Amino acid sequence: MNNKKIIIAIDGHSSCGKSTVAKDLAKALAIAYVDTGAMYRSVTLYALRNNLINDGVVNEQALVAALDNIKITFNFNAELKKNETFMNGESVEAEIRAMQVSSNVSLVSAIGAIRRKLVDWQRQMGNEGSLVMDGRDIGTVVFPNADLKIFMTASDEVRAQRRFDELTAKGETVNFDDILFNVRERDRIDSTRAESPLRKADDALLLDNSNMTMDEQFQWILDKVNQIKNS
Ligand code: C5P
Repeated sequence: MNNKKIIIAIDGHSSCGKSTVAKDLAKALAIAYVDTGAMYRSVTLYALRNNLINDGVVNEQALVAALDNIKITFNFNAELKKNETFMNGESVEAEIRAMQVSSNVSLVSAIGAIRRKLVDWQRQMGNEGSLVMDGRDIGTVVFPNADLKIFMTASDEVRAQRRFDELTAKGETVNFDDILFNVRERDRIDSTRAESPLRKADDALLLDNSNMTMDEQFQWILDKVNQIKNS
């Protein structure tokens, strides 16, 4: 299926390196990359900025009504050589990765009406051509017929350490135990929610990268892609 449209779905637990490998893969295959976590994070940022989350409770009705005013796009920043997330034309890439958003995003993403809207947007992106999309429900809900489905995971501690290193490198002052708690709490909420909970699709390939380098996991996935392309 060399020149045929290809949809690659990468799901998995929080902070296990899904976006890093998904981006590298999209680049190597010269196809689009969509970070659906960035979409849920942007909607969460919008809610926080507009005081629609108070004491851990989301003003669901107001946030759902506001969705039509939110346009999320992705652009490649040639200067920084990386993909950036934009909300209504403003780069929100740094803000959506901060702890305040991480601590609230699972509350927002558990809301059915919000998921339905975002899933619509994601499927439209898939109509436009080949892509690699990462998230929690890509292989189970967004693209159940994806050509390749990968479910990624790693131990809690390894994932928290990676997130800690990433935030520290950006100059954020963070506490390892807070991050470990956040990683576990997001997994717990994501896996137990009623609306499209995080789970491995039956036909997804499991990739535990606790003891793998970035290069090894990239090659592992690339091999699977090549097998499909040559089949
Ligand atoms: O992938 P990332 O960690 O940036 O995702 C942030 C959060 O967005 C997840 O913890 C989850 O609550 C939510 N999410 C989701 N469905 C997706 C992608 C992300 O519920 N497809």
